Amino acid sequence: MRILLMPGHTEKRKGASNEYTTEFDLALIVCSSVISQSVLYKSKNDVMLYRETDLNYGYKDINNLNADLIIQLHFNSHKSSLAKGYENLYHYKSRKGKQCASDLQGFVKSFYCKIQGKSGAEGLDRGTKHVSKGKRGYAFLNKTKAPAVIMEPFFLSTFSQYTAFMRELPFFTQMFSKYLSELTSAEVSNG
Ligand SMILES: [Zn+2]
Repeated sequence: MRILLMPGHTEKRKGASNEYTTEFDLALIVCSSVISQSVLYKSKNDVMLYRETDLNYGYKDINNLNADLIIQLHFNSHKSSLAKGYENLYHYKSRKGKQCASDLQGFVKSFYCKIQGKSGAEGLDRGTKHVSKGKRGYAFLNKTKAPAVIMEPFFLSTFSQYTAFMRELPFFTQMFSKYLSELTSAEVSNG
């Protein structure tokens, strides 16, 4: 199974930001680190990195890579500084997208379990969200051929969430590389 991992947003439009970084810059660091570590788990050819530097995503380029799953990494943002938690988004009509979003939700939960305990992880669980026309992320989820998930592991706009994530960033990328490497060895189902 081939997985395409990509940072959300673009060089020119970097998405959400806080005092220290932007969504795009941080997502690119995380994705690059995950890809380089996946070498350790012997799956570098199956976990690919795609970054878009232009204003618009090159859906044609993305689809030409023939991935079996596309994960676009984002960090959430809200005007309330109390917003927190993790969620994974999928196209409302995609059964596989829904399943992958649910699996990734479980993965992020296991990360928070390790760093904040079970009740901490459960308290942050915002669940998976289906995305229909006009909703956040729809264009991306609708134009990609392969099942796709928009991953939002924390709120960049919430200082306590940002610092907790940054403190555990090496651990997160390590866990994520391992998780993806295991996924690549899974069979691709045709259902
Ligand atoms: Zn975003």
